[in-house]
Amino acid sequence: MSGAALIRVEGLSKDYVTAAGAFPALRGVDLEIREGEFVAIMGPSGSGKSTFMNLLGCLDSPTRGRYWLGDRDVAGLPNEELARVRNRHLGFVFQGFNLLQRASVVDNVALPLVYAGVPRAERQARARVLLERVGLERYADSLPSRISGGQQQRVAIARALVNRPRVVLADEPTGNLDSHTTEEVMSLFSELNREEGITLVLVTHEPDVAEYAKRVIRFHDGVVVEDRQQQLRTAQRAGAVA
Ligand code: ADP
Ligand code: MG
Repeated sequence: MSGAALIRVEGLSKDYVTAAGAFPALRGVDLEIREGEFVAIMGPSGSGKSTFMNLLGCLDSPTRGRYWLGDRDVAGLPNEELARVRNRHLGFVFQGFNLLQRASVVDNVALPLVYAGVPRAERQARARVLLERVGLERYADSLPSRISGGQQQRVAIARALVNRPRVVLADEPTGNLDSHTTEEVMSLFSELNREEGITLVLVTHEPDVAEYAKRVIRFHDGVVVEDRQQQLRTAQRAGAVA
């Protein structure tokens, strides 16, 4: 099911400059993520998960090491180029949803297409297709404050997908959600991965959330200490054969 290497990093390292000197938050990470994978990144607080995700997301540049996204070496790109790569190839889902509260649900979903220069009619049409995909088309013209937290996160997932990214990166996407809503959001992620082959990399410290992923990578003190494939949950296997 998994295809070519989509993400490849070698010796990826990040030092933060602090008053006390350089702090090595990431210390030489080597790994490959292939198309169609669903990866959970785990590890204790401070282990470098967000630092790693910021590098994968081209939100920051490594101090040392290499990063290929597809066949492109993106580690040394200047900021404007990184922004282009981000807009064209990456989708993001954040813990706090990050929706514009004064814009309608459909306009929130369409936002990445504004930056991509897509004409308005097409933006609206594509956003509505995605809203239907996440089961929220009836709220298209509502404001985000009218819907629940779980629904807002599904809007954010639709927004992350609207530009047809090569990979969706999610840092603690269920961190603000109760357990029922967490299940709703994780079922959607797992369906998108299983049925549409969307590549997902998701940070979580909750074992229940990591169970939805097919592969778990664990960080500790800025290095990978575990990288394993895992069986899908019973419910997902049942879903896959139904
Ligand atoms: P995690 O997401 O696993 O909790 P982070 O990647 O946020 O870990 O942080 C890894 C380490 O780097 C932590 O010790 C954190 O305090 C430090 N760190 C993160 N961001 C910065 C920064 N901008 N400046 C200095 N230190 C940072
Ligand atoms: Mg973090």
